[in-house]
Amino acid sequence: MEKLAVFGGTPVFEKKIGYGHQYIDDADIQAVVNVLKSNYLTCGPKIEEVEKKLCEITGAKHAVLIANGTAALHAACFATGIGPGDEVITTPITFAASANCALYCGGKSVFADIDPDTYNIDPDSIEKHITDKTKAVVAVDFTGQAVDIKRIREICDRHGLIFIEDAAHSLGTKYDGKTVGSLADMTEFSFHPVKTCTAGEGGAITTDDDELYKKLVLFRTHGITRVQEWMDKEPEGGWYYQQIALGYNYRMTDMQAALLSSQLDKLDIFAVRRKELVRRYDEAFSRIPEIVVQKEIPESDTVRHLYILQFDLDMLKCGRREIYDALQAEGIGVNVHYIPVYSFPYYQKLGYEMGACPNAERLYERIVSIPLYYSLTNEQQDKVIEAVRKVIAYYRK
Ligand SMILES: *Cc1c(COP(=O)(O)O)cnc(C)c1O
Repeated sequence: MEKLAVFGGTPVFEKKIGYGHQYIDDADIQAVVNVLKSNYLTCGPKIEEVEKKLCEITGAKHAVLIANGTAALHAACFATGIGPGDEVITTPITFAASANCALYCGGKSVFADIDPDTYNIDPDSIEKHITDKTKAVVAVDFTGQAVDIKRIREICDRHGLIFIEDAAHSLGTKYDGKTVGSLADMTEFSFHPVKTCTAGEGGAITTDDDELYKKLVLFRTHGITRVQEWMDKEPEGGWYYQQIALGYNYRMTDMQAALLSSQLDKLDIFAVRRKELVRRYDEAFSRIPEIVVQKEIPESDTVRHLYILQFDLDMLKCGRREIYDALQAEGIGVNVHYIPVYSFPYYQKLGYEMGACPNAERLYERIVSIPLYYSLTNEQQDKVIEAVRKVIAYYRK
């Protein structure tokens, strides 16, 4: 058996590779430079240009570009009207922002468990956690796979809840042939560099609802507006504007929007490559009995953001920790997505109890994320697969 790098053997990768990486080409660079040479660094024409593009991509009526994905979730909770006493149901297997957003507005996050096969929020568990205080569901398309939109839509309609889709992972994914972004009441996107398209930092919310749109736009810029129809009286002159809500400065700059615009032009090629990489991984890992491959629902035509390996620990002589360390030593910057949100000290101090979502806690013990990004070559991918095989072979019972 080959000696693992963690025990002094030769690493599979001489130079470490990450689990995700942005892809920036000359067109991206030129787009940013053009803005720097223009009159508008912020509040300029690039914002509307990208918003239009996002509407075209998703089929949504409105898109609101915003500082980052976290601000987008905050805006969505604000537009929902979340306040003290209100509850928002979400998943624990997500980035903390999906749960923090309700807290920003004085509300409470309630965690529903995940489906053990798809890793997405389980609609049955959503139903179990609905009370008369529940106002919204933040459902995360984890790894890029669409949640069970049909059932979540039906549950939200039946209980009068706002359906917020956290699509930070799922730009370009389709559900039943329809693109994510046009299916929930509001859909949030993130353009952080590890996500499928990047703005450096950036986010967006799409919606078909005119009232929600108005609230989102106000929230992004201090609650201030120059739109006459939104004011309670005639403008006092050309300079006039009103503050009609309490918002923030959550604007994106035109440099970021220009980068994003150029990135969105590549979404289709990004998507094709990500799908191809996922197909190659699935094929390789479905032949390794110690590895559980994430299940895909037939409705989701997924543009995957993350590729997650789940290990059947009963078949191994070690835990996830040893596999993580061994893959790191082989030169692969593996990661873990995610630590269940309610297990963090901040949430524990708020009174959340361990054991609340057993499927989520069990998954967390058994996963690592391996490299998945547009510029990952087949050769590199084959080496990742080889490293995983090598590590599993060593720890096999
Ligand atoms: C990245 C991410 C966010 C937050 O996005 P930022 O742009 O980093 O603020 C929210 N939810 C999920 C699931 C994410 O992965």
